[in-house]
Amino acid sequence: MTTARLLDGTKIANDIKAEVAAEVADLAQHGIRPGLAAVLVGHVPASEIYVRSKVKTCAELGLFSELITPPETVTTEEMLALVASLNAREDIDGILIQLPLPPQVNAKLLLEAVDPAKDVDGFHPVNVGKVQSGQPALAPCTPAGMIQILRRSGLPIARLNAVVVGRSDVVGKPIAMLLLHENATVTICHSKTRDLAAHCRGADILVAAIGRPGFITPDMVKPGATILDVGINRVTDREEFDRFFLGDARREELFLLKGSTIVGDVHPAAYAVSGAYTPVPRGVGPLTIAMLMANTVRAAKLRRGLPV
Ligand code: NDP
Repeated sequence: MTTARLLDGTKIANDIKAEVAAEVADLAQHGIRPGLAAVLVGHVPASEIYVRSKVKTCAELGLFSELITPPETVTTEEMLALVASLNAREDIDGILIQLPLPPQVNAKLLLEAVDPAKDVDGFHPVNVGKVQSGQPALAPCTPAGMIQILRRSGLPIARLNAVVVGRSDVVGKPIAMLLLHENATVTICHSKTRDLAAHCRGADILVAAIGRPGFITPDMVKPGATILDVGINRVTDREEFDRFFLGDARREELFLLKGSTIVGDVHPAAYAVSGAYTPVPRGVGPLTIAMLMANTVRAAKLRRGLPV
């Protein structure tokens, strides 16, 4: 058996960020500075980490950014007014509303109120439709990043069987659509799929976007397949840790230090069966912020009628 190739998401994300920084520098010559508004409601710890890291990356690449932090008690009406003001601002090219929102806020209404031209998360129905019909659009960041991983790693997509496990609007459905546009033959599986393992075993490209630690086991992977593991699952239980990482001394050291570790939706033993795989962490994850930056610059150009 040949050794599975690790697809280094951090490196690919850094390459993309360097390209974005160069584009930003180029736009600055023409007096344009792409700007991102990041809206963070309340104090969800994971959201705070994500948003601060997005704002920090904007600064690193030369984009303008503004962090807006409405209180936990904000109403839908107040959020709609905020979105309307951001839609109208000339210095803002991208609007990011960090999810989840508190229950009193109508998230669907809000996401649909974002100007599609500034919808850098690619969640607005207009962008969903454009992605589906293959028109230039703002595609959701994580799926767009997964395509970048495949392309930049020189991995083929066309004619291959791609199986996507998970059908969320954020990952499963859009990655299936993007793979279809790349001429893969795509199957989408979900919790009601019959004989999921058989579908997975037929995959040349296997996408796991399920949200269940180590769900894809070695027997579900076709030898030599490419695995894109989107899952981010925190493991705190020692027994569960041993189930995934027994004998991994470095992981164990960090686990004992921090009291937790992150595991994907694919059991680490299944990576060994593959031809290439994205690890967790440092696989698909880093691409999300890189593509958010790329989308903000893209939005800035599209809004001004510049070529992208
Ligand atoms: P969702 O919970 O929205 O969707 C999960 C999907 O998995 C659903 O379609 C569900 O099916 C399917 N599923 C659940 N259980 C099973 C099962 N037993 N068999 C088959 N299918 C099943 O999750 P997301 O798509 O938002 O996220 C998936 C994972 O990716 C999570 O771990 C998340 O943290 C991670 N993620 C990582 C990102 C990144 O790297 N930047 C970005 C976004 C997500 P059904 O529809 O039938 O319920």
